[in-house]
Amino acid sequence: MDLGISGKRALVCASSKGLGRGCAFALAEAGVDLVLNARGAEALEATAAEIRSLYKVNVETVAADITSEEGRAEVLEIAGQVDILVTNAGGPPPGMWTDWDRDDFIDALDANMLTPIALIKALVPSMMDRGWGRVVNITSVSVKAPIPVLGLSNAARTGLTGYVAGTSRQVAGSGVTINNLLPGLHDTDRMVSLDKMAVETTGKSFDDIRAEKYASIPAGRYGSAAEFGATCAFMCSQHAGFMVGQNVLLDGGATVSTM
Ligand code: NAP
Repeated sequence: MDLGISGKRALVCASSKGLGRGCAFALAEAGVDLVLNARGAEALEATAAEIRSLYKVNVETVAADITSEEGRAEVLEIAGQVDILVTNAGGPPPGMWTDWDRDDFIDALDANMLTPIALIKALVPSMMDRGWGRVVNITSVSVKAPIPVLGLSNAARTGLTGYVAGTSRQVAGSGVTINNLLPGLHDTDRMVSLDKMAVETTGKSFDDIRAEKYASIPAGRYGSAAEFGATCAFMCSQHAGFMVGQNVLLDGGATVSTM
C-alpha cells in the first residue's frame, strides 16, 4: 500500500533502538525524511547509517535527552518544521506505591506526559498552518490496563492520554491528527534486559522466562519493533486522516476486554 507520505519530514524521538527505531524504519520505507533522536550518539548514528543504506531518504540525528528542556531545544532547532511527530522516551522505574514521593512523580510526568505535550505545542501550530500533520505518541498498554508495579508510568501516561483526547479534537479541523499507539510486550532491548533481570531474580532460564510470558499472550509471542513501526507508519499515512484521538493497542490480545 502506498502510504502517500513520501517526501514528508518526521521527527521520531527516542529512536536509536526498540519501538522508536521500528517507527523510523517504517517511515523511511514510506519515503519520509527523518530527524532521529536518542541520548547515546553511537547507536543513534548506527541506526541512521542503516536507514540511509536501505532507503533514499534524508536522515539527520540529534543526540540529546528529549525529556530535558535543553535537549528538547536542541532537537527542535534541528527539526524545524516537520509534518510528522512521533513522541517516545524511556519509561519510569518500577516499584511499590509507597516508594514514590513528589520528585519521583514530577520526573515521570516530565518524561512521559509533559515532554510529549511540549513537543506537540512546539510542532503542531506549523502543521495546522500548512493544513496537514500527524502526531503519534508511543504510550503503553498500562493506559488501558494498569500494571501495578508501574504506578509512575500508569499515572503519567494516563495524563497524556487525557490531554490528547481533548486536544486532538481541537486540531483535527486543521488536518492534523493526534493519536496514541499502545505497546504491550515487544521484543526490544528493554524487554531483553527485563527478562535477563527475571533470570537473576528467579533462577529460571531465559527460555523459561520467555515461555511463561508468551503463554500469557493469546498470540503466543512478543510483538516485533517492525510490526509496531508499520502500524505507526499507517497512523501517519494519508489513509489515517479520519483517525482522531484514538488509542491503538498492540498487545497480541493480552488485555482482555470487549472494546
Ligand atoms: P528500548 O529498546 O530501551 O529503546 C529505548 C530508546 O529510547 C533508545 O533508543 C534510547 O536511546 C531512547 N531513549 C531513552 N530515553 C531517552 C531520552 N530521555 N531521550 C532520548 N532518547 C531516549 O525501549 P522500548 O522497548 O523501545 O520502549 C520504548 C517506550 O515504550 C518506553 O517508554 C517503554 O516504557 C514503552 N513500552 C515498551 C514496551 C515493550 O514491550 N518494549 C511495552 C510497553 C511500553 P538512549 O538510551 O541512547 O537515549
